[in-house]
Amino acid sequence: MVLELKLTYKFNNDEKKLDIERLEFLEPESTEVYIREGDTIYVNDGEYLYINQLIKEATNGIKTYATISGTAKIENGVIKIMNDKSESSFVSAEAVDKLDDVKKEEIIKICETLGIDYESKPIVNKFKGNSKLLIVNAMDVEPYQFNSNYLFQDNIRDLLDTIKLLSRRFNLNAHLLLNKYDDNNVDSVKAIINEYPDINFQIIKDVYPFNTNQVIAKEHFYEYKPEEILFLDAFALYKIFYAVKNGLPVAERYITVNLGDPNRAYVIKTKYGANLGDLIKNTINIDYEEKDVYLNNFMRKVKCENLGSLIVTDNIKSIFIFPKEENIPSKCIKCGKCADICPVGINPTAKKLDSACIRCGLCNFVCPAGLNLISREK
Ligand code: SF4
Ligand code: SF4
Repeated sequence: MVLELKLTYKFNNDEKKLDIERLEFLEPESTEVYIREGDTIYVNDGEYLYINQLIKEATNGIKTYATISGTAKIENGVIKIMNDKSESSFVSAEAVDKLDDVKKEEIIKICETLGIDYESKPIVNKFKGNSKLLIVNAMDVEPYQFNSNYLFQDNIRDLLDTIKLLSRRFNLNAHLLLNKYDDNNVDSVKAIINEYPDINFQIIKDVYPFNTNQVIAKEHFYEYKPEEILFLDAFALYKIFYAVKNGLPVAERYITVNLGDPNRAYVIKTKYGANLGDLIKNTINIDYEEKDVYLNNFMRKVKCENLGSLIVTDNIKSIFIFPKEENIPSKCIKCGKCADICPVGINPTAKKLDSACIRCGLCNFVCPAGLNLISREK
């Protein structure tokens, strides 16, 4: 069943359109924040928390905020907020009427204050450094994932305004990249992009995995050094918009769910910190415990055995819930499919994983034995 998904939607079939259902899970019974070593905690057990209240700061400056309101319970390294469903929220004094009015120093300050960096991407340092180029890669870089697509559709003007602001304030040559399969985004951008002369809009071909930042920089912007390029995805851009415009962190996130039907997917809007098992039960309502579950990229074939113990974070992008695979060979049958498909031309079965591997997952995807060939060190 996994292999039946193939690479049809984005890669081989220009006409194919998926039937995508939009769902919401915005009122979880609780949300959770994991406490890591070195975190500074700003809440106490039993304290009432408002939406947008600062909960903790990690050693790398990344901050975590309450996304629901209610009472905090701290035990076993987890801060759990029990949702009182009153949606009581902090209102920031920092909100601005027009993005155009915001100065460079204010953008840096608000992004630092809200700890806007995520996934170890040092956005604020790039603002302060020698960046010359801003590349907004608004594509969903994994197959069968549509979160950026819908975030962009839902906030198109705000996001274009934010690119314009960053380009002007930081003197950056700004590029917006989409691929032609980004549903309505391409047409919507084309219709208004002439109002944004600061933004170079490019449609990039989508041949997995060639739309990753690393490959884009090499193929299209080779005249720039890596330290001169600030890459932002749609979510990072939206976080910056929200911080600068409203003076607040973003509480919501989109996650794509696919049940193995190549023609159908769900894009679910939910809250950071919500439990993934609850998310599935309260939206699509299927029994995922009897299925094979993969997170983010079904091609890498890294199974998720404990969906019910995970929460929504920036690292969770999609959930693939497939019927269990049967009749799988128990070891390598030397079919050669993995080497045939490898886009960088290495042998994925070699004793040591070649340093050229870009961990695209295609070798795992085609392997009939279901081997995970890329979990090894390079
Ligand atoms: S070895 Fe596998 S994961 Fe690495 S580049 Fe080749 S196909 Fe992709
Ligand atoms: S695809 Fe899997 S079974 Fe085939 S050669 Fe590669 S590792 Fe072995």
